[in-house]
Amino acid sequence: MRPTKTDFTATKTRFNLPENVIYLDGNSLGALPKGVAERVQRVVNDQWGTSLIRGWNDHGWIHTPSTIGDRIGQLIGAAPGTVLCTDNTSINVFKVLGAALKLRPDRKVILSDTGNFPTDLYMAQGLNQLLDAGHELKLVAPEEVEAALDDTIAVMMVTEVDYRTGRRHDMKHLTKAAHDAGALAIWDLAHSAGAFPVKLDACDADFAIGCGYKYLNGGPGAPAFVYANKKHHETMRTPLAGWWGHAAPFDFDLNYRPASGIDQMRVGTAPILAMAAMDAALDLWDDVDLEDIRTRSVDLCELFIAEVEARCPELELASPRDANVRGSQVSFRSQNGYAVMQALIAAGVIGDFRAPDIIRFGFTPLYISLEDVVRAAEILEDTLKFRKWDKPEYSVRAAVT
Ligand SMILES: *Cc1c(COP(=O)(O)O)cnc(C)c1O
Repeated sequence: MRPTKTDFTATKTRFNLPENVIYLDGNSLGALPKGVAERVQRVVNDQWGTSLIRGWNDHGWIHTPSTIGDRIGQLIGAAPGTVLCTDNTSINVFKVLGAALKLRPDRKVILSDTGNFPTDLYMAQGLNQLLDAGHELKLVAPEEVEAALDDTIAVMMVTEVDYRTGRRHDMKHLTKAAHDAGALAIWDLAHSAGAFPVKLDACDADFAIGCGYKYLNGGPGAPAFVYANKKHHETMRTPLAGWWGHAAPFDFDLNYRPASGIDQMRVGTAPILAMAAMDAALDLWDDVDLEDIRTRSVDLCELFIAEVEARCPELELASPRDANVRGSQVSFRSQNGYAVMQALIAAGVIGDFRAPDIIRFGFTPLYISLEDVVRAAEILEDTLKFRKWDKPEYSVRAAVT
């Protein structure tokens, strides 16, 4: 392990983790930070219960999308006033894609890749159908995105880290390539924010979106975030014109006028209890250096790959071997992947399964240690060696895999 300034033994004590569980699924749902339950309870009792409607002003509820958005902005290299914490990632995809297409009215193609998360593609398909103006979603293999950028492309919309394999795109390079082709670049940071340093402004990304419940630990269904580069603030128009994104919501004007700046990306009333959980979860990052997160994350992933490959020769690495092009997760292919993962979970190692054959393990140094990594590899070895996965109940698919 390379040394870090951040004390990762200390960060682990700031989570409520169940006993006898090695949690390698923080890329799907982050663990529960201490202090979140208390914060939510305080907002319920001391704010909602006491201030009632006055809370919107007295406790600044009305401003939470911006105040929490700015805190997230610090983790993704975005200047104050360019990020909002709002809605969910899917809705945010719709907003930024609609806005981006309007900024490139003479072009009709949205370029994405086959490694993108389906909801991003579905939102594009739905938007195209709604616009009914000849827009098209073009999908290419992840390695072919750059070559597919030509003067038909209005928007390149990609997810930085592939949710299945962990393969990572080069944000700076691809954004420049998109701009050179006259296109705009939208980045989905679902598996980036909180996983490693992201530099949206420095990469000159046009728009970005991402989740609050993965590496940011905001809780199940936590509000997501949306970023718009300052250079678009005056000209962009969201397709979801809501009263919270109006220039003066409490004028109750019959006609929509967009708020200035990122505030236009608000839609309706913020979920204040969920926002309280998100805000409390973000307190952790005050004492954490993201460069350290990356250093330790790479070390944990490299160790896991080495341990698993030494112990489980039947598994095929599905993630890039080169850490430079990998996010903070490691995936392996396994024919009996679903059952293997159920057996692992029963043995206390929680990862997840992604069809058709991927077993996926997320690593966050905030609460995963070197010992956890070795222990998880031992349990995986044991599960395979003694065919512990080979039980009928482990093949019954649950609604969520
Ligand atoms: C997890 C994830 C989402 C989830 O979208 P929701 O609207 O929060 O359900 C979207 N995009 C990517 C790339 C994801 O990994």
